[in-house]
Amino acid sequence: MTDTLRIQPQPGIMDIARYVGGAAQIAGHEHVVKLSSNENPYGPSEKAREAAARTAPQMHRYPNTDHASLRAAIAEVHGLDPDRIICGVGSDEVLQFAAQCFAGPGDEVIMTEHGFSMYPILARAAGALPVIVAEIERRVDVDAILNAVTDRTRIVFLTNPGNPTGTLLTEAEVRRLAEGLPGNVLLVHDGAYTEFAGDDFRLDFALADEFPNVLSTRTFSKIYGLGGLRIGWGYAQRDLIDVMNRVRQPFNLSVVQLAAAEAAMRDRDHFTRCQTENAKWRHWLRKALLDLGVECDESHTNFLLARFRDEATANACDEALKADGLIVRKVAGYGLPNCLRITIGDEPSCRRVADVIGRFMTERAQA
Ligand SMILES: *Cc1c(COP(=O)(O)O)cnc(C)c1O
Repeated sequence: MTDTLRIQPQPGIMDIARYVGGAAQIAGHEHVVKLSSNENPYGPSEKAREAAARTAPQMHRYPNTDHASLRAAIAEVHGLDPDRIICGVGSDEVLQFAAQCFAGPGDEVIMTEHGFSMYPILARAAGALPVIVAEIERRVDVDAILNAVTDRTRIVFLTNPGNPTGTLLTEAEVRRLAEGLPGNVLLVHDGAYTEFAGDDFRLDFALADEFPNVLSTRTFSKIYGLGGLRIGWGYAQRDLIDVMNRVRQPFNLSVVQLAAAEAAMRDRDHFTRCQTENAKWRHWLRKALLDLGVECDESHTNFLLARFRDEATANACDEALKADGLIVRKVAGYGLPNCLRITIGDEPSCRRVADVIGRFMTERAQA
């Protein structure tokens, strides 16, 4: 026996099923349209690109550790206290801080049936047990979450609006959840798609102001179009932020990330344009799908969840889209085998999706 065999991973780690991302390529296709990862089809703000280019030559210098300038920009734009903001390598890292700081071996972490697939990974990495709660017709069920709470529960992860469902939990329901949870359970409101739900969506901040056990997260990866650069942030009361800052690596964000994120945050014109175009084409594509006989809930995000009769039909439609160079996301792994998640692209992409699905449905009807 070699010595290396005596090295044992921590409890839970070997139970992790590795994250599978959206596909980016189709064999034999050069000009694919990637609609599988909820990326911004318009890309980042020009100002963010310039900031990245401007700071790249400083890559031999360590970045600052306190992210003060980025936090100030976020705080100004949203009217928040900069001392209650923490920044991470994507919001994934902020979610990881939460799991690492507040859950451990023997603890339970609640997530919902169609919730983000990073949550079980983060729970297990902390040695805790993921507890998966059913949704009702692709909507989070607050009563089911509250009923699942035990004295071992430490965290509840809520994606709102949901991914891959696109549905939004009403303010009254989120409040009922926050009020119903014991004070020693952290509620993580994952708002990766919040900006697509409308300008007035501040519920996540209001909750974090009101409840000492709420952490709200947001990201630069979706509406800001910086998924490749990896920046996200969380907002909570000072005590929670202070705990999480203790496990954060001092140099977790690079000079380029910090500068690009700040410029992106300050470019409200680009933000609004992305928001408006997304809403317009989301509405258009949903109507097109419904007209074609494909079911689809109203979405508050930058994607639609198209529902087919069964898994075989969803897979056949995925093949038809692929044959045309369009990559969407199969979501059987999220408990939705008869569905395809389609990112809202630009106008030509949306029209192509509708065209291909239209042909597919016609051929099916004739077969
Ligand atoms: C995309 C996404 C995130 C965040 O991703 P980062 O790129 O790490 O900021 C978080 N939660 C959900 C539900 C997402 O879809």
